[in-house]
Amino acid sequence: MQETTEQPRNDGTVPVQWCSWHEGTAATTRPVEMVERGAGAGGTLHACRECRITYSLPSLPTWLAQAALFEHLGGDGENGPCGPCNRFEDCEQGAALKAQLQREKDADR
Ligand SMILES: [Zn+2]
Ligand SMILES: [Zn+2]
Repeated sequence: MQETTEQPRNDGTVPVQWCSWHEGTAATTRPVEMVERGAGAGGTLHACRECRITYSLPSLPTWLAQAALFEHLGGDGENGPCGPCNRFEDCEQGAALKAQLQREKDADR
């Protein structure tokens, strides 16, 4: 019997190994939000790397990390734009958000 030694991963790669695009299993998949597709529109499906590239699917964690960074840089309803990040020096939070986005992008590849 073959044992799987799966490491817990923090890169957003989830153990769902079913790709809803080619409708088959894959070594790794990432969550991708489907905006349109009849019943269950807006739900989260998973796509393998090949399909994400083929169909230019942005993975949900990358999308969210990017949105969080933009929100930090540009401000939202409650917080103004981040001063340090918009000038020359990343603040601690900004650096963490950028690192997170980079991790998600790396995981997408
Ligand atoms: Zn696929
Ligand atoms: Zn900042």
